[in-house]
Amino acid sequence: MSNNIESILTETRVFEPSAAIKQQAGINADKLAAMYAKAEQDHVGFWADLAKEKLSWHKPFTQALDDSKAPLYRWFSDGELNVSYNCIDRHLDTKSDKLAIIFEGDKGDVHHYTYQELHDEVCRFANTLKTQGIKQGDRVIIYMPMIPQAVIAMQACARVGAIHSVVFGGFSAEALKDRVENAAAKMIITTDGGLRGGKAIPLKGAVDQALAKGCDSVKKVIVYQRTKQDVPMQAGRDIWWHEAEAGMSNYHDPVMLPADHPLFLLYTSGSTGTPKGVQHGSGGYLLNAMLTNEWMFDLNDQDVFWCTADVGWITGHSYVAYGPLAMGATIVMFEGVPTYPDAGRFWQVCQDHGVTVFYTAPTAIRALMKFGKDIPAQYDLSKLRILGTVGEPINPEAWMWYHEVIGRGECPIIDTWWQTETGAHMIAPFPGVTPLKPGSCTRPLPGIDAIVVDEEGNEIGNNSGGYLVVRKPWPSMLQTVWGDDQRYIDTYYAKFNNKYYVVGDSAHKDADGYIWILGRIDDVLNVSGHRLGTMEIESALVAHPKVAEAAVVGKPHDVKGESVFAFVVLNTDLPAGAERDAMVNELRNWVAQEIGPIAKPDDIRFGTNLPKTRSGKIMRRLLRTIAKGEEITQDTSTLEDPSILKQLQQA
Ligand code: ATP
Ligand code: MG
Repeated sequence: MSNNIESILTETRVFEPSAAIKQQAGINADKLAAMYAKAEQDHVGFWADLAKEKLSWHKPFTQALDDSKAPLYRWFSDGELNVSYNCIDRHLDTKSDKLAIIFEGDKGDVHHYTYQELHDEVCRFANTLKTQGIKQGDRVIIYMPMIPQAVIAMQACARVGAIHSVVFGGFSAEALKDRVENAAAKMIITTDGGLRGGKAIPLKGAVDQALAKGCDSVKKVIVYQRTKQDVPMQAGRDIWWHEAEAGMSNYHDPVMLPADHPLFLLYTSGSTGTPKGVQHGSGGYLLNAMLTNEWMFDLNDQDVFWCTADVGWITGHSYVAYGPLAMGATIVMFEGVPTYPDAGRFWQVCQDHGVTVFYTAPTAIRALMKFGKDIPAQYDLSKLRILGTVGEPINPEAWMWYHEVIGRGECPIIDTWWQTETGAHMIAPFPGVTPLKPGSCTRPLPGIDAIVVDEEGNEIGNNSGGYLVVRKPWPSMLQTVWGDDQRYIDTYYAKFNNKYYVVGDSAHKDADGYIWILGRIDDVLNVSGHRLGTMEIESALVAHPKVAEAAVVGKPHDVKGESVFAFVVLNTDLPAGAERDAMVNELRNWVAQEIGPIAKPDDIRFGTNLPKTRSGKIMRRLLRTIAKGEEITQDTSTLEDPSILKQLQQA
């Protein structure tokens, strides 16, 4: 028997791009074919030409790729530019009055920033950073809610050459402290508090707690006033944003930096283990962040783009703070949550601000699906033309709902596969060209050499599953794990002797060259000699009308090696007694019938939720421990709701 991972779910639906999107999209089939041909023929030249064309250089680079220290690759190293200049200043001649940011707060307060206003805000804050002692290369932690000042702070850091590290505002003092200390940050930028779902969340309070326990590198804390709640200010260390900014000039000359100067550090979501401090560079990162906004979202001057991700995640970096601004696009920023004041909030924001391109995560789609299609039907969503998804595999059932209920059966679903480490989309459809298959992120982008290999590193195809890897370096790849080159090599390159970047996901490629993500490599189940990914069994469960969400893991089994253990969230109340037993039977048979007896779960446990990271990803490593009946001793610092573990353990 082959050692490869088997694909057991057959999805045969195909959706061609509509005539309208085909006509409208900037990249058509001919342009795309030419890009693939060029990238194939001259990989480095392909990226070099795009870097020259799309970015504004202060000093042009002479060497595109430096691979002398491979697998520590550097791109465009001897060129000089400034990322903030590329996102703001270069648009001012033609777009100074164009809206850059449309902000809607938790309570519905709205604020607009034109490109000129954004420029002035960023400059004032860049001058503030300098005045407060920040120099090129210093690390600055940004611990803020989803408000424009978070983007202003990021852009201001980029302007002065400080390396920012955004820590999601929902993280605890402990998680914040770990990140501050790992980065040896000199400054923290925060707010008194944030508003989420009608509640004021204390942020400065968590900063004070973190600083009380260590974080000796921190010299200054800048506090933006958002909620006006009472916060203690420590003289000499803490300063209000508005006071620090008083009298600062609206002009700041951006510092031109080598293109491989680190732009930011960002910690991964922690789905599979302790988060990694991913380091990104400037020119290469910005190139792919910008290009993928053009390629995948087809952003043009009429578009209003809303990516719902928090700036605490990579998606909020590449598709909020940097990429769309480098395109000169209008973005929406939203402070609140999808279900406050009710489950129509996302659709209200889309309607009120005329959103044309909407980008969110499967976890949000599944959560909103639960409330039914009558809620979105109350809003005018007719301006939407492209819908995107990221973060986890999207189950075909959720894909169809998104396409039909939100997208009127017309908007293409752009399923974007990528990671914190990759900086930007890697595998994704082009809206005007690629026929879509629900559940597949389709084909690798031009210049992205992603393939599927077996245990020995040999390329496999035709529905055989294995390791997803990337052969050639690409501009927005991580530079290293902050301060730990060895962890970088061990985590991403050692498995196949530095030959490939190893993604950590399992996938298979179908006869049309489409990639289907099967789950995490660590989560692959081995049932009676069959190796199975988690995605397909979960999708079969989610396809049942009563199932909202599902996660499966392997549980050690004397005979089979492992058995399938499923954790399920229903659309209805938690079942009990005979009703529960009946539901378990129904779902077991359902899976056997949908994809085959081999995948039939031995155990099914119901809960009101699943353990997820703060970015909404299912943490199957914790579920594996629960399935085994063992105590959880792993890193849970990124877990959203710890109480769910108890519920699932006791169920
Ligand atoms: P950690 O690396 O700390 O375990 P993480 O991998 O969840 O956390 P991220 O970088 O936020 O951290 O997530 C990247 C992962 O998300 C990918 O490796 C993949 O498993 C999953 N993912 C993202 N987008 C998609 C997608 N469109 N389809 C399938 N999976 C996706
Ligand atoms: Mg990861």
